[in-house]
Amino acid sequence: MRTWRAAIVLALVAGSISAPSPSGAQTIVVKAARLIDGRGGPPLEPAMVRITGERIAEVAATMAVPAGATVIDLGSATLLPGLIDLHTHLTDRDDVHWESALTTTTPPEAALWGARNARLTLMAGFTTCRDMGPTWPYVDVELRKAIDAGAVPGPRLIVAGNYVSSTGGAGDARQFSIYLDVPLVRNLADGPEEIVKAVRTNFKYGADFIKILVTGAVLSKGITPGAQQYADAEIQAAVTEANRWGRPVAAHAHGAEGIKAAIRAGVRTIDHGSYLDDEAVAMLKQNRKTFYVPTLALASYIQESPHVPESEKARGRVVNEIAMGGFRRALAANLPIGLATDAPVMPHGLNAREIEYRVSLGEPAMHAIVAATSVNAEILGMQDRIGSVTAGKLADLIAVHANPLTTIGVLRDVRFVMKGGTVFRDDLSSRKETTR
Ligand SMILES: [Zn+2]
Repeated sequence: MRTWRAAIVLALVAGSISAPSPSGAQTIVVKAARLIDGRGGPPLEPAMVRITGERIAEVAATMAVPAGATVIDLGSATLLPGLIDLHTHLTDRDDVHWESALTTTTPPEAALWGARNARLTLMAGFTTCRDMGPTWPYVDVELRKAIDAGAVPGPRLIVAGNYVSSTGGAGDARQFSIYLDVPLVRNLADGPEEIVKAVRTNFKYGADFIKILVTGAVLSKGITPGAQQYADAEIQAAVTEANRWGRPVAAHAHGAEGIKAAIRAGVRTIDHGSYLDDEAVAMLKQNRKTFYVPTLALASYIQESPHVPESEKARGRVVNEIAMGGFRRALAANLPIGLATDAPVMPHGLNAREIEYRVSLGEPAMHAIVAATSVNAEILGMQDRIGSVTAGKLADLIAVHANPLTTIGVLRDVRFVMKGGTVFRDDLSSRKETTR
């Protein structure tokens, strides 16, 4: 643990050395033994990637190094695209249940811990995250702005702002005595009219997409995970209004009826998707508009957490068994499957455990890597910028010291991170030289 923290500090120092040049025109050539480019084809061995400014200019087994280029030689390492997590809560702490956070923490605390968690997540190789909503509304918007401005290191963020929940449902931030108010959190919307208002309010204050809670949740006192909590017309109202703004809706959905209602309404993602049944699989198979985004590795963390009440652990045990079946069903049907963690339900920075866990459930390693890179980029509608190591894309590159196709767990030990052409971590290169 101590060594690991020291490595983070070193990485931060390394990051400050290679701050982006104002012109953005610096050329870097990264060399490694192998490249898994995120598209699912055979690895390129050896591999060289030329980066100009924030973008990838050329990818080849070998190439001439232009004069003035900085060469980063990662030796026997394997290069991959920056990983993408479609379901994080970066401003939430690992050690505080979100419901007690409402009565014992403050938005500034969430912002500071958000900066800490964003750095941990970036250093773990996740260069893009879709953040599914803070406890304190819009702290994620500020975190995204601070990261974009270069004030704090972190993944490129796509944020939910203030997730939309029904009264008494999962995500109801007012599950207290009726005499106790939590004045600063207004996330409840009932009926199409209130939902439309909530969608507009989110976009007004900087959200990139809408998260709605379509069914109950595991970590909630509200309606049970299997039950649909928003009526079909309410889900449709969210999607219609968000789409009017050109933005998608992500649906937290465990129960099968909620999953199917959300697919019919045209949401972009079914998050968790635990009770995914054959009918839902068939519906998803018919188009590539709605994607299943399970969160599976978190189950053991819920059971071990001292902060989760027994009633919610019991919900977790029931849902987890069913969720494994849903995942295997999706895998057997060859559905594209997004990759997500729900961190901090599993600790921030351990996000790659989800990839490892899915491989342990029978998913081929390459399939899981493609999920975490190009499939996730497509789900975000960002496939023109991220998700693969190909010319023209943003230079989001990571490296590990072994081949993840044979040792998937090595993805938990990312030792090189570049985001948009800037090196944030490099514990691998033996030498950096500038050609003259
Ligand atoms: Zn979540």
